[in-house]
Amino acid sequence: MIISSVNQKNGLKKIGVFHQSRNNINDQSCLHFYMEKGKVQCSKEVDIQVINYTTQLNERNHGIIDQSCLQEMSVTIIGLGSGGSPIALDLIRCGVTSLNLIDFDTVSISNLCRSPYDLFDIGRKKTECVYEKALRINPCVNIQLYDEDVLNMESEKLDHVLQNSDLIIEATDSIKTKILINGLAYHSKPIIYPSVYDMGKGGDILFTIPGLPCFECVFKSIIKDLKETKKAEWDYTTGETKPMPALLSDIQVVVARAVKIALAILTANTEKSFIEKITEPSCSLLIIGNEKGLYLFDRPFQEVWAETQINPKCSCQTLA
Ligand SMILES: [Zn+2]
Repeated sequence: MIISSVNQKNGLKKIGVFHQSRNNINDQSCLHFYMEKGKVQCSKEVDIQVINYTTQLNERNHGIIDQSCLQEMSVTIIGLGSGGSPIALDLIRCGVTSLNLIDFDTVSISNLCRSPYDLFDIGRKKTECVYEKALRINPCVNIQLYDEDVLNMESEKLDHVLQNSDLIIEATDSIKTKILINGLAYHSKPIIYPSVYDMGKGGDILFTIPGLPCFECVFKSIIKDLKETKKAEWDYTTGETKPMPALLSDIQVVVARAVKIALAILTANTEKSFIEKITEPSCSLLIIGNEKGLYLFDRPFQEVWAETQINPKCSCQTLA
């Protein structure tokens, strides 16, 4: 059992190891806790709060999802913007303990209106900020940080990260990145691609599992259009992409669905599997409408699973 003290004043990582007695405590790199006179004692003088993470943290998820399965799983999240950052923290709250986080960006004040970042995070790496927030939820998490642009990552390193993941969530708004990840990991790993469109009026979530249609199978026809849209969103004054405005409340709908689909894929082989209860046969694209009149939606707050098919001419078939 690991016991931690999460102390606002002194920081986050007062993580320690529990021993049955004071004997054999030599390592000074972390705090040590032991039983003495019927009470938990600490190797240093700190205020401690005893938390058993294996039971208490997941008390209110109990019976719904296989926690022991989640603790064995590793999820890679590419992009820690308004989609990727809450997805990462929601997965930690749900019981995932191992993440790889890839993002080169820093937090700016414009991120605050629709993501979990706050004033203390401004100017800091998004990876580090999400890591710290995750530690405040569960100090026992195992998170690897990659502060780099996934498009410039050394290919062996990226491949190693992807192939050691049980699920990949591609949460950037870059078509180039989506195509890269599709090419590298489609045949071996499940991937989720959440997107928000039209200033948050709608969005979609594609998931791919080896054997189902890949990203290019589904989006080939509109990839060109999406690239054109990206050009329109390019800010020539700063040379940077201009993120599309969208309300947090609209983004959160897509985030919530993406998290549920992620949990369903991660626990698909357990007794408590619910993947068939939240998906439709032959469908891997969830289309979400937050407002009336968008796409095929004639009522507000509608969503529908769309049928998807493998394109026999797609590179996933011809190069397989
Ligand atoms: Zn394909």
